[in-house]
Amino acid sequence: LVVLKNVDKHFGALHVLQSIDLTIDRGEVVVVIGPSGSGKSTLCRAINRLETIDSGAIFVDGKPLPAEGKELAALRADVGMVFQSFNLFAHKTVLENVTLGQIKVRKKDKKSAETRARTLLDRVGVASQADKYPAQLSGGQQQRVAIARALAMDPKVMLFDEPTSALDPEMINEVLEVMQQLARDGMTMVVVTHEMGFARSAANRVVFMADGRVVEETSPDEFFSNPRSERAKDFLSKIL
Ligand code: ATP
Ligand code: MG
Repeated sequence: LVVLKNVDKHFGALHVLQSIDLTIDRGEVVVVIGPSGSGKSTLCRAINRLETIDSGAIFVDGKPLPAEGKELAALRADVGMVFQSFNLFAHKTVLENVTLGQIKVRKKDKKSAETRARTLLDRVGVASQADKYPAQLSGGQQQRVAIARALAMDPKVMLFDEPTSALDPEMINEVLEVMQQLARDGMTMVVVTHEMGFARSAANRVVFMADGRVVEETSPDEFFSNPRSERAKDFLSKIL
């Protein structure tokens, strides 16, 4: 569903993505882990074309990423993204946050967009917050609204970039549970996270990145019990 072929990206002299080859199949949950600065966020942003790449190619559902215009808006809807810092529209209500894209990009009428939004808000457990503004919600609630907003676009794949890193500990699980459910429902997901419990229980595959490269790509069991590279061993010794 998502294919990266020999992708390279520099920020000035920094070679932030180095010959990345990665294929994510439909229904697969891929957890990306690695040290700070290894290129995990840049990888996610490249799949959504929030970053351009220098060379190589990225395909979503068989098509190369569009450069601009309506096609790019459609890509961003097909590739849902959830960030560390919720990124909700502060001056819009929760319900408006989840309906806007459906109306503008997916061309739905207001009524069906709202019906869909309420269903999704219910699914992520914040239906009673629909008329509030983001600042009136807890971090965990805001992040669940952000997930609902992405899901409202009927994405083909969801990217999560450290979705729980900015949350207080007691709110982490409520977000992880929503993500677990999504994984069980068969959503194709790329998840950058330091939540190793989530990686063990939800991931089909772990991609370990270091210095802009994919260093290991294996099952979670194999990765946690028998990491092959020194980089991965070193990383795991620090976080586990
Ligand atoms: P973290 O775990 O800290 O989120 P990461 O693996 O997500 O790290 P990236 O954010 O992809 O890493 O960054 C990779 C490298 O690229 C870092 O050294 C970072 O400083 C650099 N970088 C990221 N974005 C830019 C930018 N817009 N301009 C210049 N350098 C950047
Ligand atoms: Mg990052």
